[in-house]
Amino acid sequence: MKKVWCLLMTLVLLVLSTAALAEDADVQAIKDRGVLRVGVKNAVVGFGYQDMLTGEYSGMEIDIANKLAEELGVDVEFTTVTAATRTELLDSGDIDCVLATFTITAARKENWDFTTPYYTDYVTVLVEDASGIKTLADLVGKKVGVSSGSTSARAVVEAMIDAGLIDGADFDRDTFDPATWTTGVSFQQYDDYPTISTALSAGEVDAFSVDKSILAIYKTEGRSFIDAQFAPQEYGVATKKGSGFSAYVEEKITEWLADGTIAGFMAANGVE
Ligand code: GLU
Repeated sequence: MKKVWCLLMTLVLLVLSTAALAEDADVQAIKDRGVLRVGVKNAVVGFGYQDMLTGEYSGMEIDIANKLAEELGVDVEFTTVTAATRTELLDSGDIDCVLATFTITAARKENWDFTTPYYTDYVTVLVEDASGIKTLADLVGKKVGVSSGSTSARAVVEAMIDAGLIDGADFDRDTFDPATWTTGVSFQQYDDYPTISTALSAGEVDAFSVDKSILAIYKTEGRSFIDAQFAPQEYGVATKKGSGFSAYVEEKITEWLADGTIAGFMAANGVE
């Protein structure tokens, strides 16, 4: 009995030390390289925004990335990502983490590691005032522009079903595809947000939906948000599944949420 106990303890210790080693190896690799490579947005004011003249990035996600690099004792290198490219770049190893308004979902958690959320946003819808669209109900029968690889279309459909505006009989959260959904509302998917904004002006789509933080820059004269915001979007830092760096980032994010560091970054960037 004693022997079995000893063997068991040795096994537990072995597993624990292997996990610790994995963390060290992945974190060490970044330290050895001397650069933390981070995927960020370039047009989300307050989160990830790039000044086109200077090339400088700013926002709370940039501040978090800079602080991570500072903790690691390395430089930081930013790569602009979109909702569609951020996961490819993480998978290929071109970037170490994503800090790009990346919503944590159950399905995404199966493929990537996410930290505790550092911010919660909501989805809403931007329209041209001339369209007369003011509420979710007005979206019935309309075409909405969304980004590929985003949560937006599903959020719109769920909100419309919840409001009793469309029939949810065909809706399945896991298999939902914006490209084929036509019950009560339809979607046009685009690779980036400026293209959706242009499509909205051109009347190619009736509305533009995504998180409020992302939509802000496109809310120009003559455009308004509809009178609804829905589908809480919890943003987390994403890393490769099972990477030792995931545990490192999680520890830092929880520490900076608790000690007010992240609240400070929000305030400094005008994020509420
Ligand atoms: N935050 C949403 C998502 O992760 C909107 C897309 C985006 O971040 O660009 O799907």
